[in-house]
Amino acid sequence: MAMATFARRKAYLLARNFSNSSPDALRYSFSLTSFSRGFAASGSEENDVVVIGGGPGGYVAAIKAAQLGLKTTCIEKRGTLGGTCLNVGCIPSKALLHSSHMFHEAQHSFANHGVKFSSVEIDLPAMMAQKDKAVANLTRGIEGLFKKNKVSYVKGYGKFISPSEVSVDTLEGGNTIVKGKNIIIATGSDVKSLPGITIDEKKIVSSTGALALSEIPKKLVVVGAGYIGLEMGSVWGRLGSEVTVVEFAPDIVPSMDGEIRKQFQRSLEKQKMKFMLKTKVVGVDTSGDGVKLTLEPASGGDQTILEADVVLVSAGRTPFTAGLGLDKIGVETDKVGRIPVNERFATNVPGVYAIGDVIPGPMLAHKAEEDGVACVEFIAGKQGHVDYDKVPGVVYTNPEVASVGKTEEQVKALGIEYRVGKFPFMANSRAKAIDNAEGIVKILAEKETDKILGVHIMAPNAGELIHEAAVALTYDAASEDLARVCHAHPTMSEAVKEAAMATHDKPIHI
Ligand SMILES: Cc1cc2nc3c(=O)[nH]c(=O)nc-3n(C[C@H](O)[C@H](O)[C@H](O)COP(=O)(O)OP(=O)(O)OC[C@H]3O[C@@H](n4cnc5c(N)ncnc54)[C@H](O)[C@@H]3O)c2cc1C
Repeated sequence: MAMATFARRKAYLLARNFSNSSPDALRYSFSLTSFSRGFAASGSEENDVVVIGGGPGGYVAAIKAAQLGLKTTCIEKRGTLGGTCLNVGCIPSKALLHSSHMFHEAQHSFANHGVKFSSVEIDLPAMMAQKDKAVANLTRGIEGLFKKNKVSYVKGYGKFISPSEVSVDTLEGGNTIVKGKNIIIATGSDVKSLPGITIDEKKIVSSTGALALSEIPKKLVVVGAGYIGLEMGSVWGRLGSEVTVVEFAPDIVPSMDGEIRKQFQRSLEKQKMKFMLKTKVVGVDTSGDGVKLTLEPASGGDQTILEADVVLVSAGRTPFTAGLGLDKIGVETDKVGRIPVNERFATNVPGVYAIGDVIPGPMLAHKAEEDGVACVEFIAGKQGHVDYDKVPGVVYTNPEVASVGKTEEQVKALGIEYRVGKFPFMANSRAKAIDNAEGIVKILAEKETDKILGVHIMAPNAGELIHEAAVALTYDAASEDLARVCHAHPTMSEAVKEAAMATHDKPIHI
């Protein structure tokens, strides 16, 4: 009974959202007909689903396909599963962010709580070893999930030889052909460099190199003020590097709500991170011991030299389809190399699908996972559902910044009349009790209906707090709905409730 009610409400919301949203922002389907080429009988050599790439998009799609009863093979060239996220992205970066945060807290905060040390030291190899252990455990865990769910796993480089056949040069040195009625491209993304800058992963590193430095650089320059650059800059800054972030754009993290972004930048500056905005790198000299970067104002002008021991190039990521043979089977790509797909994640070639970082949309692990599940649900003849408007984004610095839905700038640009409710953590009892009260919750709601349009949180644990907002947005809640939910005391979550109260009425504690 409960399920039936849930299903009816979901269908209603899907229909309502579908009629209001842009095709780019939304992927829904109501058809229950299968788009697949049918399912192989058990024991046949041909797979129902072949997934190329074992990242969060690919491995989740493979497991879900197997759970739906489809014979499934996943091909991965790296030798370990988990893709960018587990091997050189989300997981190792969060491990180092946590370790470096503990060091920073021990140095700067513990004494305020009456915990004193005579000295605190960094053991960088031990820190890196804990990160590597976390990565190894998690990647092996996915191999275990493949076995549990009976997903076949082929280690090697996959290349299309037809829309239903992938030739794999295996890591062991042989070659095998993997056949599939449906093939999902989940080959993800790779580091993007900048013209004239060669990444050597020693003095000039990508995020991958920045996760494995053997020494703490005295001076670190981060080129690009996106979330990856700021997270890695935070790690090395906390460990003692002097960090300067050079950014072409006038602002850091362009996708962030403007007001939150300003507070966030101030907070990072308090942590001694320096910013050179509206600045471009026009030359790199690695001939000496360190690196000399020649900088110029974005709009042109006098050049300056900035010296560094290590330069992290963090200028975004680019879809990865090299050596995949897309041209051989006629799969189209757009001008930045992404694979366009329809609402069912189907490419222009029947039976070939694409998900995750290799298609348009936010380049985030959880979005890739949602794509993967929805894609195989469509293949299995069920409904899939991903709403790109409601994908939360988190910057895992300290404080963290998390958001879901629209920024104030986006709401204004759409001409929607809106209300704003804010609540600072300075007025939150839990934040005060733990002496960590920097940050704010900001909620945007439609003026006429009170429907929540966007929620932006800067707080130590914003990445966890954001999910009640994600639930609220998903169910089209009003700010009053959120305000009337009983929140446990004392919690940081009460700031979300109070911000919701401030949006539709008045908060109590400020
Ligand atoms: C430093 C860093 C930190 C990040 N932090 C976060 C975070 O905190 N939260 C978050 O949501 N996202 C984060 N991301 C982004 C996240 O890692 C990606 O969005 C996510 O991994 C994309 O998943 P995917 O499955 O589409 O692709 P990927 O994870 O890139 O996986 C694709 C896989 O396909 C394999 N492959 C490619 N071509 C072939 C082929 N021809 N044959 C066989 N295998 C192939 C690759 O080896 C790779 O393992 C971070 C990224 C980086 C670099």
